[in-house]
Amino acid sequence: MDRVDCVVVGAGVVGLAVARALALQGREVMVLEAADGIGTGTSSRNSEVIHAGIYYA
Ligand SMILES: Cc1cc2nc3c(=O)[nH]c(=O)nc-3n(C[C@H](O)[C@H](O)[C@H](O)COP(=O)(O)OP(=O)(O)OC[C@H]3O[C@@H](n4cnc5c(N)ncnc54)[C@H](O)[C@@H]3O)c2cc1C
Repeated sequence: MDRVDCVVVGAGVVGLAVARALALQGREVMVLEAADGIGTGTSSRNSEVIHAGIYYA
């Protein structure tokens, strides 16, 4: 593959969400990940609390 619309570096939760949003817009997306699998970095080791705006003033 010589050309691609978008390249996302890092397949953590942020990179995967960005890649998904771009793909849903119809763009061709390539995700580059240094580890053996996706979501195996910080994204797999958090406390599973959703820090949404509802918790904060
Ligand atoms: C102890 C702890 C508890 C947490 N608890 C919570 C929580 O309860 N709720 C919450 O919302 N958040 C929490 N967080 C924060 C949350 O986990 C992170 O903000 C989030 O997972 C970061 O996602 P990310 O995609 O930015 O990074 P990462 O998950 O780190 O993904 C980055 C990816 O990029 C890859 N990468 C890096 N450099 C390159 C390169 N040059 N080429 C290719 N690939 C590369 C890495 O291998 C990795 O897979 C916590 C964090 C920690 C450390």
